[in-house]
Amino acid sequence: MVKKKAEQLIRDLHNARPQTPDDLHQLKRELAKRYGTELLSHTNLLGRYRQFLKDEREPANDHTLKLLRRRSVRTLSGVAPITVLTKPYPCPGRCVYCPTERNMPKSYIASEPAAARALANQFDPYKQVKGRIKQLENNGHVADKIELIVLGGTWSFYEKDYREWFIKRCFDAANGMENATLGEAQKMNETAEHRIIGLTLETRPDYVTEEELWHMRLLGCTHVQIGIQSLDQAILDLIKRDDTVESMAHATALLKQFGFKFTYHIMPGLPGATPEKDIQTVEMLFNDERFQPDMLKIYPTVVVKSSLMYQWWKAGKYKPYDDQTLQDLLIEIKRRIPPYVRINRLIRDIPGNDIIDGNLVTNLRQKLQERGVACQCIRCREAKGKKVRMEDTELVIRTYPSSGGTEQFISFESPDRKTIYAFVRLFLPGHSQQAFVRELHTYGEMIPVGSAKKAVQHVGFGKRLMAEAEKVSAEKGFNKLAVIAGIGVREYYRKMGYKDENTYVVKRLAK
Ligand SMILES: [Zn+2]
Repeated sequence: MVKKKAEQLIRDLHNARPQTPDDLHQLKRELAKRYGTELLSHTNLLGRYRQFLKDEREPANDHTLKLLRRRSVRTLSGVAPITVLTKPYPCPGRCVYCPTERNMPKSYIASEPAAARALANQFDPYKQVKGRIKQLENNGHVADKIELIVLGGTWSFYEKDYREWFIKRCFDAANGMENATLGEAQKMNETAEHRIIGLTLETRPDYVTEEELWHMRLLGCTHVQIGIQSLDQAILDLIKRDDTVESMAHATALLKQFGFKFTYHIMPGLPGATPEKDIQTVEMLFNDERFQPDMLKIYPTVVVKSSLMYQWWKAGKYKPYDDQTLQDLLIEIKRRIPPYVRINRLIRDIPGNDIIDGNLVTNLRQKLQERGVACQCIRCREAKGKKVRMEDTELVIRTYPSSGGTEQFISFESPDRKTIYAFVRLFLPGHSQQAFVRELHTYGEMIPVGSAKKAVQHVGFGKRLMAEAEKVSAEKGFNKLAVIAGIGVREYYRKMGYKDENTYVVKRLAK
């Protein structure tokens, strides 16, 4: 950085007098933009600020100094998501809505943020992960718990060697050093500074087989995203999805049997769809036990130039929903979301100038909230780090049939159910003696009870929920409870008496 520029930047920082860590982060971004520099770390700024005060003989702004000295903050939910993309590669699919850009894995657009970063790093997994960790830390976040999300073409269609190499390099980057094998890299990561606590992979339902799921477990995968798009077979045929509702149900059953948590992508407004048909798909998702996704990504169909559908649109054979129709539909969809489901996304992050036709509203979620939609999904209720006393929460158990077994969604919530502090997803299979914890998540923090004089054993939500899951499983006659734990959280479960077994951590239950 040019010296003059740096001096001006520090002077601006001095004059701006940020009041909160958020102010400071906002200011850092503004200054980086204003002076065309990269984001500077707190430490870097602190050094420069001290120098400035000395040179200029200015009285220090103590508050600014304090903010700069403060240890970096955790991201809101304590977990830093890092998204990486696999290299461009042929996809077995021929879906008509799918963007097909050169130099990009199928279905991705170079201008999407994560895709742009991947392209800049030549799709190198090591550089992508390392770069994101650095960026997060420069923004004042602690990246000690990483949720790694791998996007790109159909994961299961890449060569096996490439898949193993890709994941190993991600672990290497998190570890800050190279290991000889994937297993060694994972072992090291169990106690590393930057732990990968969850790994998300994305594939097609027709590629979900037992063999493939075992391979995903070997890589450390804990969460699978699959493209459903619609549960209307006529629509699936029309869009050349080359997949069936039965195969989607089969894939889902396998995912549950392996204890994975999973996300469905659905696309309202596909060719052949009507709002009524889209609502039918959503109702089927939660009324038909063969489906029951944990999370949803709702991607309203848009026309992009590199898709085959663009030709249909040009010929007047297809038209996306108008804004009003789409927003009314999304409200109907939200009304039908059960309290144990999380809507992760409501639109896809496609930059507006790539959208030829279709939804351009980027703040759909807020737009719908303004219309007063009461969505009871997890995302709309999560406590976001709020602190709460145990006695102000209630233990709630929701039970529903799921692919031949039973799902128990066990949570701590406010008495009015408007806030959810923590939950565990417990799957009790129909034909096995082993129950699965598929997900354990805490959003809030419990205020420890007891006086300062008495030493208080602080038992958080996570341990209480695990105890409940163990109790329920034992009562229902299961003799083992397995947890699909990410590599970086295995230690947490070992401390609770769980032992490694076939890529899971497992506890035998006393009858
Ligand atoms: Zn919601």
